[in-house]
Amino acid sequence: MTFTQDRPLRVLVVGSGPSGIFAADALIKQSEVPVRIDVLDKLPTPYGLVRYGVAPDHLKIKSVTAGFEKILSDPRVRFLGNVAFGTDLTYDEARSHYDALFYTFGASSDRRLGIPGEDLTGSMSATEFVAWYNGHPDAAAREMLLHATGVAVVGVGNVALDVSRILSKTTEELRDSDIAPHALDALEHSPVKDVWILGRRGAAQAKFTTKELREFGELHVSDPIVKGDEIQVSQADEDVADSTVKKNLEVLRAFAARSPEGRERRLHLRFLVSPTEILDDGHGHVAGLKIERNRLDEKGNAVGTGEFEILPVQMVLRSVGYRGMKIAGVPFDEGRGVIPNEQGRVTGRVGEYTAGWIKRGPSGVIGTNKADAVESVKLLLEDARNGTLQPVQDSNHDHIDALLSGKAIDVVTLADWKALDAHELMTGQAQGRPRAKVSHKAQMLEVIRSKRG
Ligand code: NAP
Repeated sequence: MTFTQDRPLRVLVVGSGPSGIFAADALIKQSEVPVRIDVLDKLPTPYGLVRYGVAPDHLKIKSVTAGFEKILSDPRVRFLGNVAFGTDLTYDEARSHYDALFYTFGASSDRRLGIPGEDLTGSMSATEFVAWYNGHPDAAAREMLLHATGVAVVGVGNVALDVSRILSKTTEELRDSDIAPHALDALEHSPVKDVWILGRRGAAQAKFTTKELREFGELHVSDPIVKGDEIQVSQADEDVADSTVKKNLEVLRAFAARSPEGRERRLHLRFLVSPTEILDDGHGHVAGLKIERNRLDEKGNAVGTGEFEILPVQMVLRSVGYRGMKIAGVPFDEGRGVIPNEQGRVTGRVGEYTAGWIKRGPSGVIGTNKADAVESVKLLLEDARNGTLQPVQDSNHDHIDALLSGKAIDVVTLADWKALDAHELMTGQAQGRPRAKVSHKAQMLEVIRSKRG
């Protein structure tokens, strides 16, 4: 065995979202190969999409962070926050100090629709909107124009349901969430009355899950509205429907049968429609969305019928999937937006592995990433045992720390994060809220420094 207790395998995990934490967990759960792991994050906060992607009113899902904290607290693991891989720590620097690199930096960008008007003011990705209301530092400073009375959300996945639900809730309903304070303030003044969620294919092809769909029936001031003719599905689709599709159809049919209660807001779930153009008000702002009615061809693809309609919206959120971003030094498949890999081994590289959305694309729930990370870790350990992984000359922790402090990088430790976490919880409680997130990086570092004493 190349690696021993005296000279353990040194792994750098790049990204502290669920996949990175699950990878660290799988590495410390085995005892055959002694390990030391540094988990890097460009933000001062750990947990990636759990903090910045999961909807702020889904606090139960976020409770996984208690288990994540335990993993980061293991003496063999260190959290190094506020360190950007590729710039603060370059690929070459990392390669010369770690025996293995494990990429789990997710998919932080978005996909586009490719229709006219997509760059108008008021048209943006759901990714940006989610980042804004969740207090992501890269989006926190963004001016969010919330003057729209009508909003179209393109796509029928769970992210589309999340953003539509947040837009449809009252401030009172949102107070029990950990939505960023700036977003809560802005949404309080939002005049939104109608939200349209648009699926290009049929109700049987929708990607959302039933629990999230049911929440539309429980909103205080929004009526869910479904057109009966748009949720009719063919016998062939009924025959192949899995239990989620069956339950979704049940809920949609119940919504269609329900007479609107005349509430002040409406949430329209539309199917078999595609956006074809975002209309300009003449001043560069969204003034409407042109949509075309579709039918499904024999392969189940959406095909336009030539029948158009214009939705009176001033905001369009495309929620058609996240996309991975390239990081300097790391191979990238531009077409798929992922790191090319074979079951988690980075193609053409020895000692480099990947897991999560940057490995397989943006799909699946938090738990999906556990099996995915375990698969990649198994290969890493196999390579460590069979001698494929060779120890680097200089694996000393202190040298990495000195390298970073030499570049004036203020590394955020787990203790620092815990201090910021406690601060957010305390400030939130004082406002009668579960948490008041600090969204600006400079403010996060200010709080952390003040707690270091
Ligand atoms: P998603 O589930 O892949 O949904 C993307 C949607 O965009 C699909 O309805 C897709 O339709 C549609 N679409 C793609 N290209 C389009 C185009 N050009 N025009 C119109 N529609 C288009 O992605 P997501 O909603 O971003 O979610 C990502 C993952 O995170 C999913 O696995 C999701 O379940 C998970 N997630 C889970 C939760 C939760 O558990 N509460 C919350 C948020 C996210 P087609 O099917 O026709 O391609």
